[in-house]
Amino acid sequence: MLVCYYLPVEWMDRAACKGRTKDMFPDPTVEKDQMYVYLAKSICSKCPVKGPCLEYAIQFPTNDMHGVWAGKTRRELQTEQRRRGIKPTRPSIAAQWATIAGRAPSRRKDPGGS
Ligand code: SF4
Repeated sequence: MLVCYYLPVEWMDRAACKGRTKDMFPDPTVEKDQMYVYLAKSICSKCPVKGPCLEYAIQFPTNDMHGVWAGKTRRELQTEQRRRGIKPTRPSIAAQWATIAGRAPSRRKDPGGS
């Protein structure tokens, strides 16, 4: 049975970024402009579910994450994982989507890393 950890959870309904996917997670194969990070971090700074969002995001391997989660880029999430001694055991987001789509996972460039 496929367990998808990436499916929406309750707190996502209250997210400040709800409906703003392109502002938070621009297509890494298309979007090269890093300026979105400032807007995304601004949105996160006013989000009522920033805490649960961070706890969620740091459970995933960051190697294929992109965009901004809980006001943090991929590299900032990595730093947070190291600081807390967290070694993610969940499948990567890319692997989960690949499983859902019925294809092998592919690596995508992370424009959110800075
Ligand atoms: S903290 Fe940022 S990424 Fe997380 S739910 Fe809120 S707005 Fe979205």
